[in-house]
Amino acid sequence: MPIYEYHCKNCGNEFEKIMGFSDPRVNSPDCPNCQSDDTQKRLSTIAAYSGGKRSSSTTSSCGSSGGFS
Ligand SMILES: [Zn+2]
Repeated sequence: MPIYEYHCKNCGNEFEKIMGFSDPRVNSPDCPNCQSDDTQKRLSTIAAYSGGKRSSSTTSSCGSSGGFS
């Protein structure tokens, strides 16, 4: 399950919370500091996981540099 970052617009607290994709409160859970539900999900952590590491080194040097014959 992904960990989301949230920002509380009521008290300014920032916190992390593990939420399921189907959780109805995924976009605005209660703030652990002031219990307000005026919170906003931040997208930074989720975006960091996708993209990035992909090695495409095996596609270019295949076939011509010997082995057979
Ligand atoms: Zn708060």
